[in-house]
Amino acid sequence: MSYDKNNIFAKILRGEIPCKKIFENDYVLSFHDINPQKKIHALVIPKGEYVDLDDFNKKASDKEIIEFHKALSHVPSLLGATGKGYRVLSNIGSDGGQEVPHLHFHIFAGEKIGKMVI
Ligand code: AMP
Repeated sequence: MSYDKNNIFAKILRGEIPCKKIFENDYVLSFHDINPQKKIHALVIPKGEYVDLDDFNKKASDKEIIEFHKALSHVPSLLGATGKGYRVLSNIGSDGGQEVPHLHFHIFAGEKIGKMVI
């Protein structure tokens, strides 16, 4: 799938749509999900144009991959979830249930997250 520059997260990255920002650096943006499924529900996205994890791992630079991976631990620490536990999840493609075609990881925290797959 080619990257759709009009997807909602691309618009957030361009500042065309607001978000409740948690963390940002040159490579990564994290913000609260607009429709939280748990007490804490954050999203972490790369700033580059990648459709999903497969696309990212094929095309991103080592620096982008390292910074994205580090952010997946840094954001929970900012949210006070380190030590208590949390869940990191990424939906990929139609069978995976991906709705927004810009790579994102969900971070669920703040309560018992429950079954791994509903
Ligand atoms: P997925 O189904 O994995 O593609 O998840 C997409 C997520 O993006 C859902 O949890 C949505 O609630 C969330 N979402 C959609 N639009 C926005 C937005 N404008 N700001 C924050 N989160 C959003």
